[in-house]
Amino acid sequence: MMVNKVDILAFGAHPDDVECAVSGTLLKHIAMGKTVAIIDLTAGENGSFGNRETRLKESKKASETLGVSYRECLGIRDGAIENNELNRLLVINSIRRYQPEIVLANALDDNHPDHAVAANLVSNSVFLSGLEKIQTFHNNELQNKWRPRVVYHYIQDMLIKPDFVIDISEYMSKKMDAILAYKSQFISPKNNAPNSIIGLLEQIKSTNAIFGRPINSNYAEGFNVNRYIGVKNLFSLE
Ligand SMILES: [Zn+2]
Repeated sequence: MMVNKVDILAFGAHPDDVECAVSGTLLKHIAMGKTVAIIDLTAGENGSFGNRETRLKESKKASETLGVSYRECLGIRDGAIENNELNRLLVINSIRRYQPEIVLANALDDNHPDHAVAANLVSNSVFLSGLEKIQTFHNNELQNKWRPRVVYHYIQDMLIKPDFVIDISEYMSKKMDAILAYKSQFISPKNNAPNSIIGLLEQIKSTNAIFGRPINSNYAEGFNVNRYIGVKNLFSLE
């Protein structure tokens, strides 16, 4: 069975979700020697700026900046993500192909309605992927079941209180480079001037600064869990 095993599999509803919300954490873990794949559920074709082709090109460039091992798009319709059986099977198929230990998914609540649906779609699929009787095929071959250890939901546009944060100060400028690969989202093609989303860059920095403050770091990314986190002992928490 074909498996491209990675340590972390990051799902995003739209091509720049992962870069905006969690790329500092990905850069940090790639620097630690961990392998990462990104899966975009949609091509972001219905966003206000850019189109399917430009966004695909941009996501490729962002992936190179981040140093991820694989990236693919599942081709679900942008703005119409549903947590239904067909989509769960698509997501399960990806989980079984990459066999990650850790899955990252959209925020459980957010501005764009696709985000919360994607969060639940991915989280449900992670559980179901561990069930043998839910059969999926890749290249006509039956896939093995696979249950990742955990799903973490990265916080994006809505300021949600995180369950934990990760210091990304060292990776902040590279994170900005990865986000800026999405030129169509930040630069207007009409006059080559910054479009209305340009403020987003400063907002992302501010959010990361707010998450960093309680741990005395300049910048951090925030996460939620929908189950308890188990730790070995009090000293493994810091
Ligand atoms: Zn999005």
